[in-house]
Formats: sequence, C-alpha cells, structure tokens
Amino acid sequence: MSDKLSWIDDELQKLHDSGLYNHIRTLGSPQGAWLVVDGKKVLNFCSNNYLGLANHPRIVAAARKAMETYGVGPGAVRTIAGTMDLHVKLDKRLADFKGVEAAITFQSGFTANLGTIPALVGKGDVIFSDELNHASIIDGCRLSGAKIIRYAHCDAEDLEAQLKEHRDQYERALVVTDGVFSMDGDVAPLDVIYNVTQNYDAILMVDDAHGEGVLGRGGRGIVDHFDLHGKVDVEVGTLSKAFGVVGGVVAGNARVVEWLHQRGRPFLFSSAMTVPDVAACLEAVDMLEESTELVDRLWENTRYFKGEMKNLGFDTGQSVTPITPVMLGEAKLAQEFSKALYEAGVFAMAIGYPTVPRGKARIRVMISAAHSREDLDQGLEAFASVGRALGVIA
Ligand SMILES: *Cc1c(COP(=O)(O)O)cnc(C)c1O
Repeated sequence: MSDKLSWIDDELQKLHDSGLYNHIRTLGSPQGAWLVVDGKKVLNFCSNNYLGLANHPRIVAAARKAMETYGVGPGAVRTIAGTMDLHVKLDKRLADFKGVEAAITFQSGFTANLGTIPALVGKGDVIFSDELNHASIIDGCRLSGAKIIRYAHCDAEDLEAQLKEHRDQYERALVVTDGVFSMDGDVAPLDVIYNVTQNYDAILMVDDAHGEGVLGRGGRGIVDHFDLHGKVDVEVGTLSKAFGVVGGVVAGNARVVEWLHQRGRPFLFSSAMTVPDVAACLEAVDMLEESTELVDRLWENTRYFKGEMKNLGFDTGQSVTPITPVMLGEAKLAQEFSKALYEAGVFAMAIGYPTVPRGKARIRVMISAAHSREDLDQGLEAFASVGRALGVIA
C-alpha cells in the first residue's frame, strides 16, 4: 500500500537540508525580561511583550477576578450568545483609548485581518498592498477575491503610480499597509500615503500590530503618531504584543465596525475572546490611560540600547522603533551569532531568508519596558564579546 503522507517526510527533509526548519523553544517560565528556555535561564530579547504586561501583577489579578464572576469560556460566537458585557466594554474602551468612533475585537490580529479585508473588498475590486505586508494581510487579501497589486515597500510614489494606472478599472479600492514593519522596525509614511489615497477614492487601512501600545501619545498607535485622527478608515491592532495578552481589534469609522458585526467572518463563525483575555486587556487599557510610564521606559530603553550598539560598531539598520535588527549579512553567521549569544545567556533570534531577503540576515532584538538598565548592559556585553569573537566588530 502506498504511503499517502510520505511527501511530508520529503518536504520536512528539504526544510532541514536548507536550514529553514523551525526549531521551537519551550519556555518554562512566564514572559518577562528573563526566561527559562529549555531549562536554562536567559535574558529575553525575543518577545513582543513591549510593555512587560504579559505577566504584570495587575493584569493577572484582573484576569483572575473576572474568572470568579464570569468563568472562563465565552460559550459561543459573539453573534449568538458569546458577547458578554465585558466584551462590549472592551470594544468601547479601546475605541475611546484610540480616539475613534468605534472598535470591534477579534480573537487575534490575524483573524482581524482575515475578517476585515474580505468584508471591505471582493471580486471586481482592487487592493494596493505594500510588498512587505504581514502574512495575515496577504491571506486576507487573497481570501477577498479582489485583484491584488503590490507597491514598493513604503514607497508612496510607487503607490500613486499604481493607483493612477489601475484604480479606474475596478469598483472599490483598498490601500493597506503595516504600520510598523516587524523585521526592519521601519514605519510606513502614513501621512503621505493618506494624501495619495485621498485622490483616488480608496479606503485606507493600516495594521498597527507593532505600533499599538508603542507609537503615539501613551501608545495610542500610528494614527496618533502622525496626527491622522478621523482620516484613516480602518486601524487593525493586536492585543498580543504591547498589550501582553491575546486578541485583535479593528478601530475607526463606525460604519466599518457596524459592517464587521454583520460580515466579519471570524466574528460570526469563531468564538469570542475568553473571559481572562478580555479582563486582562481591559486592565491594560486602564494602565495605559493612567500613565505613560511604561511607554516612556520602552522608548528610553530603546534609545539606550541602540545608541550603545552603534557605539560598539554594530549596524542596526533602518529601525525607528524598539525593534532592533542587528545586521549580519549571511544567514549562517546570524545563526552562529544567535547560538553563541544563547550560550552566553542571551536569547535573541536569528532571522534569515525567506523572512528577510538573502544576504540580509540578522539578529532581531526586541526591547521591552521590562528590561532594567542592568539587563540591557548584560545584553550589550554579550553582543560585544560574541561580535568580537566572530569578527563582526573590531
Ligand atoms: C503580529 C502581527 C499580526 C498578528 O497578530 P496576532 O494578534 O498575534 O494574531 C498581524 N499583523 C501584524 C503586522 C503583526 O505584526
């Protein structure tokens, strides 16, 4: 009898042979500045826990308290019997926090994109998408059935050229971009993109997963950062990065949010966020509204770490955010570097092709407000000694 799954062995072997197989590390501790990874205590430069909220005592206490009142599971999709007053409160609080008309939460940022894009455009319509947009945007675009036209990364001039050439041949148009790009830490020129989009009758959508809780006043995101309030139609965010929990949010125009209540498929056909998730996110909004301390510390840590890395002679690329790529070039060097760091007690991922272009392999350092100055100094010391040992810096 033929083995109808043997092709999987072949494909897996190919991944191993080309160094692209994902080896997944197991954490034996909460997220924080330090982790226990496969039994070893290491300094954490890998997570998206920008504000240190993933294991914050206030957040944990809020989740625990809510479970005593509401239990754990939502019991259904939101349109049937899965919307609790907690969910409604979170939608409202997120809208207020972001200064928009309305907001709607999803199970994740990924499902927010999958639900939103096909609700806005379909067959006969067109999407203009930054060539480096996140996988969940790409999948949402494909699901929609609309024509997809990619424009050069962060290039508003190319976007305008594409709009000029193609816009007229389609009914509705959507322009979509990541806010902060996760591999380089660069920020989409949303102000210029808005100006261009205005002239071509296109809906403007930004996915601010890495800007939520990071950019703008007190972490209000990229729209606040560029002072584009009321101008961006759809803002997608995640509650799994700076918010430290899990969940997705779509914020902006009230009509868009109302439409997603009717036509956002992950909203209609997948159960709501769980009780502890929602309560934890509500507490996170409280904390962000009460004080900018964590966001300020995140940026202070970012400035310090990047400055010291430059002084050591490292190339930290184009980043203007806490995402700090340490450019190394060859994938093999990046992997060797990451391994040596790990041996020195620092957990930082090597990233290579196809996640980034060939020859642009790097270590990606994720800075957090959870890091103390001593943590950062310890990390810098490890980078300096590994960098010298491998001939990356003098
Ligand atoms: C992380 C990320 C997502 C996915 O968010 P989840 O809440 O983890 O599903 C979506 N878009 C972008 C740009 C991201 O960086």
